[in-house]
Amino acid sequence: MTDTSSSSVPRIPLTLLGTGAMGTALGRAWLAAGHPLTVWNRTAARTAALTAEGAVAAPDAAAAVAANRLVVVCLLDDASVGEALAGADLTGRDLVNLTTGTPADARSRAAWAEERGARLLDGGIMAVPPMIGTPGAFVLYSGDRVLFEEYRDVLAVPAGPAYVGADPGLAALHDVALLSGMYGMFAGITHAFALVREAEVAPKEFAALLVPWLEAMASMAHGAAERLADGDLTTGVVSNLAMQVAGSGTLVRTAEEQGVSTELLTPFLDLMRRRLADGHGDEDTTGLVELLRTR
Ligand code: NDP
Repeated sequence: MTDTSSSSVPRIPLTLLGTGAMGTALGRAWLAAGHPLTVWNRTAARTAALTAEGAVAAPDAAAAVAANRLVVVCLLDDASVGEALAGADLTGRDLVNLTTGTPADARSRAAWAEERGARLLDGGIMAVPPMIGTPGAFVLYSGDRVLFEEYRDVLAVPAGPAYVGADPGLAALHDVALLSGMYGMFAGITHAFALVREAEVAPKEFAALLVPWLEAMASMAHGAAERLADGDLTTGVVSNLAMQVAGSGTLVRTAEEQGVSTELLTPFLDLMRRRLADGHGDEDTTGLVELLRTR
């Protein structure tokens, strides 16, 4: 099955279920690298971009699954995976599920695959479609390590593979944690643009300052990680909570002066004040992690 005739990298034939925006980008990368590709999509017309580049379209999901041992799934959500694969014989198949879901979705989908005689690796794509095939793209994988190692090279074609652990839920957990960090950053960016919007500040000039500032501040996560790992949340603190809470009034008053709502800012500032009131003024914001636990 594996053709190594014209390349030192084995060309592993594979099936791709789902040729939406992401599936199409993934498929293109595998085709460009010479991997024989069978595709299926619920709306058949959406496979046209890939068949034009050499993919073979299967008439239904069951036929697509039957075509190859390696089956990559990139559908909308976990429910669509169950729906698409309901009539397929998964015996002996190796499923790589790149559909976004929760850690619990991933764990139950892995058990579901095992009951059907298949092995499953769960993946979380950390890229948007235009990034696929470029060095910045990576995919988090969790589950069967043997499966991961077996397919590492072919998985590396569209995006750098990063294995995060044997628990199938870990890729989804990392994926959502990284996305959550991103949304916090987007909230900050939104508030910052709102502040300068009414003033005569050119958005592009402001962005040229904002981006390097956020990049520099993002590295604070390393210090937070060290404190969380040590268990001492006061070690190496450079800007303590007492000072930060004192300064936070300026953030609120400036927003009021500029006629900007503080609704994106207030939840975080409230947590800082609560942690300070609990007697942790010599920590930085790392200690807020403790306040977010709900069980
Ligand atoms: P699209 O909306 O472009 O495509 C969704 C795909 O799922 C289509 O192939 C669609 O088929 C299929 N689908 C939806 N419901 C069903 C169903 N009930 N049964 C069978 N097939 C179904 O989304 P993307 O390709 O962008 O996203 C795919 C996955 O990749 C998602 O889980 C997404 O979270 C993830 N992802 C996407 C990123 C992005 O930026 N686009 C970034 C990182 C991850 P049909 O064409 O028939 O509607």
